[in-house]
Amino acid sequence: MKNDTLYNCSLCKKDYPRKKVQVINGVVKCKLCKQKKRLEIRESFKRNVFGVRKRVDIIKEQKEKRKIKRAEKEVTRQAIKEERERKRRNKPVKSNLLPIKEKIRTFSYLSLEEKRLLYKKYLKQGYNPETSNLKIKKCVDYMTNLREKLRMNKVPEEKILNRFKEEFAKLIMED
Ligand SMILES: [Zn+2]
Repeated sequence: MKNDTLYNCSLCKKDYPRKKVQVINGVVKCKLCKQKKRLEIRESFKRNVFGVRKRVDIIKEQKEKRKIKRAEKEVTRQAIKEERERKRRNKPVKSNLLPIKEKIRTFSYLSLEEKRLLYKKYLKQGYNPETSNLKIKKCVDYMTNLREKLRMNKVPEEKILNRFKEEFAKLIMED
């Protein structure tokens, strides 16, 4: 019977009834294989026509993105570096130098308490108030000049401070 005749698919080599196959120019193809072939062709067409172009575009795009990202990273890195350097430069000025300067001022020009101590000392040594004040004035001048000299020789502020402490101790101790 014609209805029982099986057709052998030229691709998957499986037998199918007539209604499940297509015969073109004597070549038998089952509907599944035909569908598969059609999909394959469509896929390869997509790949070849759109895909390839797309891939090129994607590669270009990725390159561009990487470039931008690298540039952004570089800018950020540079900003962090500059900020760090700025902080490093400011630190000694802000946290060290200013308070020391304040302390030094009291030492260089002598604080009221220090002047009082010297005054008492000079009175005890037998100097009259006027001479005592003159001696103190000389001490202040000496300290001021000393500070200028040390600063001109780029002596660190900390060392200048120590020097003043020593000088004041000498003034108090000396006869
Ligand atoms: Zn087939």
